[in-house]
Amino acid sequence: MLVRPCPQCRKPVPWETTPTRPFCSERCRTRDLGAWGSEAYRVPVDPALEDGEGWSEAAPTS
Ligand SMILES: [Zn+2]
Repeated sequence: MLVRPCPQCRKPVPWETTPTRPFCSERCRTRDLGAWGSEAYRVPVDPALEDGEGWSEAAPTS
């Protein structure tokens, strides 16, 4: 079974059977959304990669 750690509390989350995935529970999901604001959850990435749209691996610097 696929198991992933909850991004909020690091508890193992059974992927197939957890409707609140990637979080272990509604509580963790709500806490995470609160931390990130009203925006839908996004995978944490390096902020440097977030500016500009349509970014690619080898984005030209212009
Ligand atoms: Zn959790």
